[in-house]
Amino acid sequence: MILILSSNTDPHGAEYQQLITHLAGLPEIQTRVHTEQGAEKTLTEIYLIGNTMALDIKDMQSLPCVERVVRVSEEYRILGRHKDDPRPAYFEYNGVRFGQDTLNVFAGLCAVDNAQHVELMLKALRDNGQVCTRMGAYKPRTSPYSFQGHGKNCLPYVFELAGKYGIKVIAMEITHESHLNEISAALHQTGHPTGVMLQIGTRNTQNFELLKIVGRQQEFPVLLKRGFGITLDESLNAAEYLASEGNRNVVFGLRGMKTNMGDPHRNFVDFAHVPVVKRLTRMPVCIDPSHSVGTRSAAPDGILDVMHATAQGVIAGANMILVDFHPAPTKALVDGPQALLLKELPYFLEDVRIAREAYLKRVALLNKI
Ligand code: PEP
Ligand code: MN
Repeated sequence: MILILSSNTDPHGAEYQQLITHLAGLPEIQTRVHTEQGAEKTLTEIYLIGNTMALDIKDMQSLPCVERVVRVSEEYRILGRHKDDPRPAYFEYNGVRFGQDTLNVFAGLCAVDNAQHVELMLKALRDNGQVCTRMGAYKPRTSPYSFQGHGKNCLPYVFELAGKYGIKVIAMEITHESHLNEISAALHQTGHPTGVMLQIGTRNTQNFELLKIVGRQQEFPVLLKRGFGITLDESLNAAEYLASEGNRNVVFGLRGMKTNMGDPHRNFVDFAHVPVVKRLTRMPVCIDPSHSVGTRSAAPDGILDVMHATAQGVIAGANMILVDFHPAPTKALVDGPQALLLKELPYFLEDVRIAREAYLKRVALLNKI
C-alpha cells in the first residue's frame, strides 16, 4: 500500500510526526519513505510493506498529511501501474522529458572509437535538431579478445563534444559500479556539459548487485534493457530492483530475444510488447531496432529491416529509440554491419515522424469512436 502525502508536507511538522507514530504502531507493517524533489514541490510517498490487507483504505485516508491511498498489487510495487494509481508515468532529466507520452530518439555510436567520429556524429545530430545520443564507452563483448571500449579515457572528449553540439542526454552502458564513479568524475571534471542516462545491458539485466548500486543513486536515470533469455516478468522485476533502491527514473528497453527462431535477424524482434510494458508499468518504453535486427538488409520495398522494425515499435507507442549510426561503418570497432549512415539520419527521422503521427492518429481515432 502507498500513502501519497499532500505536496510540501513538512517532515518536521507535528502532523507528519503524528502520522509516523501511528504507522509505527501498526502490527506487522514496515514503512519506507520516498521523497521526490520536483522543481516546484516535494512529493512524499510512504510505502507500507507487510500485512496491508488488514488495513482499511478509508482509515488510512483519514490520517494526517495523507492525500491519497493506493493499494498496490504484489508485482512491480513502485514502477507498476495499479488500479486508481495517480502517480506520473514520466520524469524529466536535464531538460528532457521521458514519459509514456513522449518520443525521444537516441541515435549514435554503438561504441566510441575516436574523437573525430564522435564529433561527426554529434554534429549531424545537432544539424537535425536532436538533443540525445548513444555513446558506448564500456562494451560487454562475447570474446575477451574483442575491443572492450575506450572506457574512462574517452569520457572527457565525449562529454565536451556533446556540450559543444547541444546534446543533453547520452545513453551509456555501464557494466560495473566503478564505471558509475568514472562517469560522475568525468562530468564533474568537464563542468557538466551534458547529461548521462546509464544503460544496463541485456547481459546484466539480472545482475542484482549492480542494479542495487545503480538504484541507490538518483543523479542519473537508467535505461534497463530486457534480458534476452528471460521472461518479461523477470525483466520487469529487474527494473523494480532499481526503483526499490530509490531510483524510479527508469526507461525499459526492448532489444529482441535471443533465439534462432528470429533468424536471419540477430534477435527476435519483440516490439509487440511495447503496449504490454506500458500497461503493466509506468515506465517509458525504449526500442532498440539495431541490436534486434543486427543487419542492413532491406525488404523488396527498399526499406531497411532496421527501419521497418523501428516503425513497428513507434506505431505501437514506443517512447524512445536507441539506434546505431556511424560516420564510417566499415571502420567501426563494434557492430558496423548494423549501423545506419549519417546521410540516412534525416530520412530515418522523417520515417520515425510518419510512424509517430500514425500512432497519434490511431489513439485519436479510438478516442473518437
Ligand atoms: C548496446 O546497446 O550497445 C548493447 C550492447 O545492447 P544489448 O545490451 O541490448 O545487447
Ligand atoms: Mn552494439
